[in-house]
Amino acid sequence: MKLNIKNTFISALPADPILENSRRQVTEAVFSYVTPKQTKAPKVIHTSTEMGEELGISKEDLQSDFFRDIVTGNNVYPNTKPYAMCYAGHQFGNWGGQLGDGRAINLFEVEHQQKNWKVQLKGAGETPYSRTADGLAVLRSSIREYLCAEAMFHLGVPTTRSLSLSLSGDEVLRDVLYNGNPAYEKGAIVSRISPSFLRFGNFEIFAARNDHKNLKVLADYTIKNHFPNLGEPSKETYVNFFKEVSERTLDMIIHWQRVGFVHGVMNTDNMSILGLTIDYGPYGWLEGFDFGWTPNTTDRQHKRYRYGNQPNIGLWNLYQLANALYPLIEETKPLEEILNRYKVDFEQKSLRMMQSKLGLYTDDKNDINLIQELEDNLQLVETDMTIFFRNLANFDKLNKTDDIKVVEKAFYDFDDISEEIKTRWTVWFDEYRKRLQKEPFTDADRKEKMNDVNPKYVLRNYMAQLAIDAADEGDYSLIDELFKLLKKPYAAQPKNEKWFAKRPEWARHKVGCSMLSCSS
Ligand code: AMP
Ligand code: MG
Repeated sequence: MKLNIKNTFISALPADPILENSRRQVTEAVFSYVTPKQTKAPKVIHTSTEMGEELGISKEDLQSDFFRDIVTGNNVYPNTKPYAMCYAGHQFGNWGGQLGDGRAINLFEVEHQQKNWKVQLKGAGETPYSRTADGLAVLRSSIREYLCAEAMFHLGVPTTRSLSLSLSGDEVLRDVLYNGNPAYEKGAIVSRISPSFLRFGNFEIFAARNDHKNLKVLADYTIKNHFPNLGEPSKETYVNFFKEVSERTLDMIIHWQRVGFVHGVMNTDNMSILGLTIDYGPYGWLEGFDFGWTPNTTDRQHKRYRYGNQPNIGLWNLYQLANALYPLIEETKPLEEILNRYKVDFEQKSLRMMQSKLGLYTDDKNDINLIQELEDNLQLVETDMTIFFRNLANFDKLNKTDDIKVVEKAFYDFDDISEEIKTRWTVWFDEYRKRLQKEPFTDADRKEKMNDVNPKYVLRNYMAQLAIDAADEGDYSLIDELFKLLKKPYAAQPKNEKWFAKRPEWARHKVGCSMLSCSS
């Protein structure tokens, strides 16, 4: 396995001079050198051939012992120096101070086909940022991250990617529900890939410490390597940098809303500076359409990170980034303009996204109301978001029938829907039909276009849990099956129809399916 290694990150940015791997505050540095932990019995259980190709790693290499040892931290690739990054963050609305890569270790940087990638292990042992925790990850959360990142990519959502999923062979103690019942679980390591793992929190930490020198070094590095179109550093460039981060963040969240993804922990340390979905923890997929839903039990009380609040939180997080970049700009007005722009853009982009989910492509003033009424209706009784929009594509715009039948499969209890609610749906479908008749497309054309934005297959919470339960017993076939299924989320895949189904009743209240803690 011969990789084209680069060192742009570690050569351009200040390193922590202390090499001892002890937990501490690290100042005036973007990262600390660390060595991954040796593990007892490393075993690769899945790899992404496609991601391997992106990095210049062949299928044969992916199966080699050398690859196994690299992606489980048991060997360090020649002439590379692994490191953990130092960042801070606002967690659940409060300043959290220094956080950092507590259990992520960046291995190296690879350049292939004119693309630069950072390769990072999650769960490969302690770093100076591990605080009170062990630096490890368990199998269940690793499967969830590994599968979801790739599923999101194929849905067209900006995200970090997955390269490999491995067992460490070590046991890890976790209290899943934080209720005093710790138990040993299988340790696992995911290797994940991104052009950059920098977060809002990397900028916040220097601003909070009044270290404007390193704040500038980091901003200049980021612009030069990731936003080269913005040109040479200047106050104006920093403003434009913030503008682009703001736009990318909004675009990412609009995609989340489109596919029904709830991140679960939108702390500023989990916000990528490139606008990529990062850190798949207690995330979840909407089953019943519900703006108030969050998968994260840690957030159960305030539901700060609920589905319907994600766009607001994106903005809140951008305020924190604006504060962090302010010392480089020293003017509030341009930053405020960008933040205000976010709100305007959100309204527009959200409308356009919802129109596309409904197969509406011309402008109509009443669409806002039509969408509002739809969202209200969807929350009257439990209605599966994915199935609803996918099957809505079969709507007949010319002939009125028993319209609700077209989306019958989306209702969790169709037989129990009251006449009053059915009437509300009839009213909505009548309006929808009238509206569709203003569009030039035939039903068949519209269906094709709608199916490109309304996925048929998403990683439903119970599906990941089934793969986890099987993997716990040593059967990794479902991981592979889901991995393949989710490569084509918009395709009909008639053989996989069983995954185009509502959450089964057994999963309604099962831990891991509807309830997830941050324990991972
Ligand atoms: P998260 O909520 O997973 O984004 O984590 C927040 C912070 O806690 C990050 O700095 C993580 O690196 C750190 N962290 C989470 N789990 C562990 C762990 N098992 N060991 C060390 N650090 C951890
Ligand atoms: Mg994190």
